[in-house]
Amino acid sequence: MNQKKIVMSGVRPTGLPHLGNWAGAFKNWVDLQEDYQCYYSIVDWHALTSEYQNTKNIRPDVRNVLLDMLGVGIDPERSVVFLQSEIKEIAELFLLFAMFTPLGWLERVPTFKEQQKELKEKDLNTIGFLGYPLLQTIDIIIVRANIVPVGEDQVSHLELAREIVRRFNNLYGNYFPEPIEFLTPIPKLPGLDGRKMSKSYDNTICLSDSAETVDKKIRPMKTDTRRMRRSDPGVPDDCPAFDFHKCFSSEEERKEIVAGCTTASIGCIDCKKILIKNLNNLLDPFRERRKKYESMPVEDILESGIKKTREVAKQTIAEARELMKI
Ligand code: SF4
Repeated sequence: MNQKKIVMSGVRPTGLPHLGNWAGAFKNWVDLQEDYQCYYSIVDWHALTSEYQNTKNIRPDVRNVLLDMLGVGIDPERSVVFLQSEIKEIAELFLLFAMFTPLGWLERVPTFKEQQKELKEKDLNTIGFLGYPLLQTIDIIIVRANIVPVGEDQVSHLELAREIVRRFNNLYGNYFPEPIEFLTPIPKLPGLDGRKMSKSYDNTICLSDSAETVDKKIRPMKTDTRRMRRSDPGVPDDCPAFDFHKCFSSEEERKEIVAGCTTASIGCIDCKKILIKNLNNLLDPFRERRKKYESMPVEDILESGIKKTREVAKQTIAEARELMKI
């Protein structure tokens, strides 16, 4: 019997995965494979919650996300990688849980209002969008996961997931484990323009970008505005490029940069060249592995993950129905 604790997390197939996805999720996912039974889902129903008017890219993006997951080192021999919409039991459990999840709990999730404001060009006044955190809860509990690797911004969703699980357990019997978050240890990564790294702002470095593209994107990247001229000293903590150094450069390099930037003894291009080198060192093995998988039938990997998840999901739904007397 498998004694390992269960980890579950998901990624939306909306565009090419970028460095923010790696820092905020994939790196953790790879590390967790060592000690846990991991389930990693490509959550295409979640993509629909905001992209329901424009679905043509979802299928190609599923393949791209899968290739990048394999590229960064998710090992399909150890982890289960699957497509959310192939597990119909998730939809059934979502429906059952929708019966007793109070509307107010979903309405008060901070990201609900924030995202509606942020994505105001989209009509997000839908049941699907409001129910997004409930669907996330179901993703987690369908495989009865104990641990969920998340970024800070998702902690409120995990709190809600625990509340919802407690409600089921109180109403029908103690069955589902309360999932706990596993926070990403990497500092938050801004986009190339200093805002949040996001496909919608076109400020990302994709995991599949070539070395030349990385070079082209980093060189004009936003820096501390105090450094108008090469001779002006700067403040690294006010520089998005330095935020990248915090994630991708060694402590020694960072010390040298701080000394050089604050005394204007290095220029921003010298500083960015170090970053470009470090980023390409990180991305090179990802690119190589991705290339290898591009010529393989990766759909088989997904298919095998779907079969494994279905087995667990079927058991979960049968036991939940039994407890609910349905
Ligand atoms: S030297 Fe580096 S840390 Fe300083 S402002 Fe320029 S890019 Fe930013």
